[in-house]
Amino acid sequence: MATKYIFITGGVVSSVGKGVTAAAIGRLLKERGFAVSAQKLDPYINVDPGTMSPYQHGEVFVLDDGAETDLDLGHYERFIDISLNKMCNVTSGQVYAEVIGKERRGDFLGGTIQVIPHITNEIKRRIGLVAKTTGAEIVLVEIGGTVGDIESLPFLEAIRQMRTDLGRENSLCIHVTWLPHIGATGELKTKPTQHSVRELRSIGISPDVIVARSDYPVEDDLREKIALFCDVEKRAVIPLVTASTIYEVPLVLEQFELGEYLLERFGLTAREKPDWRVWEQLVKEAKRTRPKVHVALVGKYIELHDAYFSVREALEHAALSLGIEINIAWVHSSDLEKDRNWEQVYQADGVVVPGGFGSRGIEGKIKAICYARENKVPYLGLCLGMQLMVVELARHILGNDQPNSTEFDNKTPYPVIDLMPDQMDIADMGGTMRLGLYPCQLQKGTLAAAAYPQSQVRERHRHRFELNNAYRELLSKGGMVFSGISPDGKLVEIAELADHPFMVATQFHPEFLSRPNRPHPLFLAFLKAVSQHAGIEAFQVIPAEQLTISSRTINAKAR
Ligand code: GLN
Repeated sequence: MATKYIFITGGVVSSVGKGVTAAAIGRLLKERGFAVSAQKLDPYINVDPGTMSPYQHGEVFVLDDGAETDLDLGHYERFIDISLNKMCNVTSGQVYAEVIGKERRGDFLGGTIQVIPHITNEIKRRIGLVAKTTGAEIVLVEIGGTVGDIESLPFLEAIRQMRTDLGRENSLCIHVTWLPHIGATGELKTKPTQHSVRELRSIGISPDVIVARSDYPVEDDLREKIALFCDVEKRAVIPLVTASTIYEVPLVLEQFELGEYLLERFGLTAREKPDWRVWEQLVKEAKRTRPKVHVALVGKYIELHDAYFSVREALEHAALSLGIEINIAWVHSSDLEKDRNWEQVYQADGVVVPGGFGSRGIEGKIKAICYARENKVPYLGLCLGMQLMVVELARHILGNDQPNSTEFDNKTPYPVIDLMPDQMDIADMGGTMRLGLYPCQLQKGTLAAAAYPQSQVRERHRHRFELNNAYRELLSKGGMVFSGISPDGKLVEIAELADHPFMVATQFHPEFLSRPNRPHPLFLAFLKAVSQHAGIEAFQVIPAEQLTISSRTINAKAR
């Protein structure tokens, strides 16, 4: 069958959950037995979000192949349960860099390079690469921003052309809009949706489906009105009222029979009957009053929770499957430095220090780690959270505060975290990151080995610095156990403390491989320890289908 494309655009305002909607639509189709993949087109000029501040962009989501991508790719992977690749996130920056590179090499033989056709052709080529590299039968393509933005015009033009190139039966456009609520009259308004559809039409794209997001129930007559004014069938107007948990979104879309509608429009019939049992159970759990545990997340981009999206999701997945509710206290590490906000740490049954770059707030995180170690509070360190656990222990062993990572103090006499010798001469920092999947051998008899069902795992990395092997002996004398090591023995991937109920930290980012239906083993183990600390008996309410985090297995069903 010819590859089918679903283009997803946004209207009215941003931040209404277009990414989650796209991801949930992907799930509807996967449940019907189709191989699905998803792509995000981002209109900004940065080549990737890797260099953007988390304040501007939220978290950087890392893929198996090391691509640094938009956090929407996290939604796609979690909802559809697939592994994406670097073709799945395209930015204007990449498109322009490619075209300008070709121009400099003389590939265009003296021609004038223009947005149409050169930029649009490159966009179309990149859209085509997703099906080629993943084998997907249906590709979802989400366009960042909202219709009407100058930046996204070349992307919309490329889609307009593709709709004709592919044939109508092979492509659909879903427009996700927002229905504002007027408090004084208690009404929902469809006018902005109508305007946004008109704007889309003026570019030459007529939507086939309208997903109308709203904070209030949408009555049937409003659906009719949108259908009439926007020229779509009534059953193609899908009201999507803000759900209490994002895992409810696929169920709501299913209820409005969107999956069947899309297949019908493509001339396809479902190969499998959707099985929503796990999702229904997740939602039921999420809505149930569960015993509460408190976790302090000590970071530096605390104001914007999106900066730690996958960490929060991974905690949530594990909590749901253990039947507990997790209350995250977002603690600013610089506050701790100023002796503020410590109550939130004292009240917590567990401490998480997530990844990060740059020296701001480092000492506050080290203090929180020291507190967790001394008071035997469960601790989970992620990337920077492992490096700082190493620094903290070295300081404790040596009895002074000189040990450090050379990222923060390049003159420290005790560089316990450092660049590897083969990285030292590389001046271009951008080239020295360890990115993507790397294998890790678990060491018998450790907490990490007990957490994972298998003895070798592959996890996603995004960092530059490593534990300095010259200090392994000192650290292990001080009670540190290197529970995960690269198969060649050269890199410490997981470290834990022997004399502590649960003080485990990883050089990689386990949060990127957690799935709602398959919580990550380390997050599960951490939350079990947290529950124990809180005096709550936690057991797996939702049995993890198969506790494997090999993304290869995850892909198998989609193919
Ligand atoms: N800044 C640290 C490094 O580059 C940690 C990075 C991270 O936490 N992702 O190694």
